[in-house]
Amino acid sequence: LEGQLAQADKLSSIGLLAAGVAHEINTPLAVISSYAQMLAKQLRGDARLSPVLEKITQQSFRAAEIANGLLNFSRTSTTEMKATNLNQVIRDTLSLLEHQFKTAQIHVDMELTPDLPPIHGNAGKLQQVFLNLLLNAKEAMPSGGNLRVTTLVNGHVEAVVSDSGSGISPEHMKRIYDPFFTTKTIPAPGGKRGTGLGLSVSYGIIQEHAGKIHVESAIGAGTTFHLEFPLLRNSVHA
Ligand code: ADP
Ligand code: MG
Repeated sequence: LEGQLAQADKLSSIGLLAAGVAHEINTPLAVISSYAQMLAKQLRGDARLSPVLEKITQQSFRAAEIANGLLNFSRTSTTEMKATNLNQVIRDTLSLLEHQFKTAQIHVDMELTPDLPPIHGNAGKLQQVFLNLLLNAKEAMPSGGNLRVTTLVNGHVEAVVSDSGSGISPEHMKRIYDPFFTTKTIPAPGGKRGTGLGLSVSYGIIQEHAGKIHVESAIGAGTTFHLEFPLLRNSVHA
């Protein structure tokens, strides 16, 4: 619990700062990328300069992605919460990624408990959490594998996301929720560099839902994330 509180503190102070910085950075970035695109149009066919402008555009998109990640991270003020069906959130998120998983030769096994009781939540934010978990799973299985997503009732509503990917080393384990912690510094083939914001954003969202997240992992075998949310009738917010 102490660890969770310290984490919450760290997240909220970084969040305040982050919102301001991300906002300020977005404006000049938009200017850079629109001028780069304008120049790219003018110089189309210039074998020497076109790739340079392509780099500028790509990298300013990447910076914008980081800034937007930060904004999401700190946007915690007004989350509308209502009775939410976690199974539906999971189905919606998986259907967004279905094609990506197929292409990546990832077999998806979904076992959603019928008549799962609703939780007090925000479907959009919860979808962001599952998107982060599922993309991490995909990125941990660059040559394919198995992904399993289950829901169950166990005094609370639980979702389990399990992959047969690379696993997380014990020394990385305690850092995975830290903002900007990433091991994806060299993009995997066809992959992307990480921002290290996915799990810290997810952690914040789960906290907003009075939920818990914990992980088990073994190098070379895979990783399992467990998410727990209070039953609606037990929820402090209800
Ligand atoms: P990013 O994906 O941008 O690196 P995240 O916050 O989503 O940032 O994840 C942080 C780190 O946690 C990842 O870089 C990776 O090392 C580790 N990680 C998270 N999920 C998994 C997973 N399913 N399998 C292996 N490693 C993972
Ligand atoms: Mg991620």
